[in-house]
This record gives sequence, structure tokens and C-alpha cells, in this order.
Amino acid sequence: MLPLPVLQKAQKEMLSHGATGCGVMEMSHRSPQYLPIIEGAEASLRSLMNIPPNYAVLFLQGGATLQFSAIPFNLAMQGDTAAYALTGEFAQKAFAEAERWLHPVAVASSEDKNFSYIPDIPASSIPPKAKYLHITVNNTIYGTMYKTLPQTHVPLVGDMSSIILGRTYDVSKFGLIYAGAQKNMGSAGLTVVIVDRSLLKETAPFIPPVMRYSVQDKNQSMANTPPTYAIYMAGLVFDWVKEMGGVKALQQINEEKSRLLYEAIDNSKLFKAPARPEFRSIMNATFTAGTDQQTSDFLKMAEGRGLVNLKGHRAVGGCRASIYNAMPIEGVRALIACMKDFEQGK
Ligand SMILES: *Cc1c(COP(=O)(O)O)cnc(C)c1O
Repeated sequence: MLPLPVLQKAQKEMLSHGATGCGVMEMSHRSPQYLPIIEGAEASLRSLMNIPPNYAVLFLQGGATLQFSAIPFNLAMQGDTAAYALTGEFAQKAFAEAERWLHPVAVASSEDKNFSYIPDIPASSIPPKAKYLHITVNNTIYGTMYKTLPQTHVPLVGDMSSIILGRTYDVSKFGLIYAGAQKNMGSAGLTVVIVDRSLLKETAPFIPPVMRYSVQDKNQSMANTPPTYAIYMAGLVFDWVKEMGGVKALQQINEEKSRLLYEAIDNSKLFKAPARPEFRSIMNATFTAGTDQQTSDFLKMAEGRGLVNLKGHRAVGGCRASIYNAMPIEGVRALIACMKDFEQGK
């Protein structure tokens, strides 16, 4: 879901943005009407995340998935090595894309326990020549997250698709952060890349210019037409985050939302959360409701109460409550009430 004030603002501005007399979708991306929108969005994100000035902020397309390929292309040369921590399906996909171009090493994995925890990454396991260490900061499908970042002597690369703006992280600890916008920043179609410019070196000549961070940085994310409307929506979400008190304030709400939900699960005899408590995500809570039949009955009952999209990812089954920034605490309370009623056979 998106915050209601954001949708209302977009509705109000649909036909005419400010005094321009045209909607955002109708603007040329290089026009004087549009430039303040993209520049404003970048400035807001920089201030919300405290992004150091030597980092580029890029507004790209292709989802986090395209970045699985773009990152090895941009940060390493063919045959170099890089370290990957395998903490779920998206981490595995990122690793598989790196394998096409590099000789990456899986330095840690939690696959042995169905990705229910975040494994240690001993600094000694990272090859000294590794160009970077890649982690998936929040594992959307399995409901686990890094609460502390691994110690590393190489640049840290973080997939923050499902946690960006949901919790504070020190950007300067990362060489690169990337995130699809559709979970916590707005609508699908936009991918944000935040990268330390000192890591941007020459890339192999065949790599498409739209995938080269240095080219996108030089062209203000306009090596080709950027996703103008999705950038506008993200800008509205950034303004909303600011009004809510910033990322720290939202983190506190997210911690409270997830605490209430996990407490209800842990106090229940029926519901169970597979993720180890110390690694539980504050954004995606995964849980089961007894047998498969009971889980499907529970999902039906929840849907009847307007609680939708609670089915777990097909890789894990069960249920998953994605309680992103826009989900108010009342939504979590309604879910908990439904769980209690289901368990008591009401
Ligand atoms: C959703 C998600 C992706 C995939 O994003 P696309 O925009 O569909 O490419 C990758 N990584 C994480 C952590 C995600 O949550």
C-alpha cells in the first residue's frame, strides 16, 4: 500500500502539476517543468538517508533484478572475484548473475536451515582481492534482516529493496546501495542506486551505456528517458516520510508494529514464526497457521476482513505480512485480532 496523502496529492495533480497546465506523465523529462521534480526527489532522498556528497544517486529502471547484473559489470572486470552472502532467493539470484561475469565466492549461507537466520561472515573468509561483498539487507521472502552490518575490508554492496527508508543504516558504511521502489518508495518501474563515485571505474566496452553508472551519473539519470512518473511518486513518498518525522521515526513505528505481531505469534499455540528471533525482519513477518489446510482457512478468513496479500511466497508457503512504511499500526492490530479469533475458532 501507499500512504493515502501521497495518493491524494497525485490525484489532485493528475491533470495539472502546480501551475504548469499539464500532468507529470505529459511532461518532457528535460523540460523546465520536470527538472525540479527529479532534482527535488534526489535532494529529499539525500537528506532523509544522510547520503554523503561523494555518492551518486541514480534513478534507473529494470528493477533490483537488473542491478544483479549491473553491479558486477560496474564494480569489477571480467574474471575478478567478489563475495556474496546467500541469505535467500534474491541473494542467490544476485550470485547467479555475478557468476556470468566474475568468479564470485559464497562466503556464507543460511540455506541449511531454509534461510531462517543471518549467517556470520568471518572477515577472513572474504578473498583479499574481492571487489566487493554483497548482502541482501532484508530478506523479503524469508523475513530476516541484518541488524548489524558485517565487518569487511572491501566495499559493501546492499540490496535494500524491502527496507530502504524503513530503518536507518549508515550509508557511508556501504560502497553501493540499491532498491526497487515498489516496496517502500512508491510505484514499480523505478530502481534507486546510491553509489560511492570513487568505485566507478572503466567498464568493459560492450556493457550498455544505460547500465553504466558513470554514464548515468554524468547524465543526471537521463542516459535515456527515466521513469518520470515513478520518480515523481517516489518524491511524494519522500515528502511524506519527512512529514512523518524522517526514517528514524518510521523505524520506531516499524519496530513497534513488528514487535506486536511477533509477540502475538509467540504467545499463540497455533501460529509459528520460522525466522530466528534475533534476525526477524521488521518489514516482512513470515509465519504459519498450523497445517496447510488451517493456513488456507486462515487466509480466507483474513481476506473476508479485508486483510489481503497475506499468502507467503511460493518458495516458503505459509503466511507473510509485509508491513512496509505505509502500513499503519491499526492494520497490524486488525491482523492480530483476526489471528486470535481464528485460533479461538470464532
Ligand atoms: C523484490 C525484491 C527484488 C526484486 O525486485 P524487482 O524490482 O522485481 O527486480 C530483489 N531483491 C529484494 C530484496 C526484493 O525484495
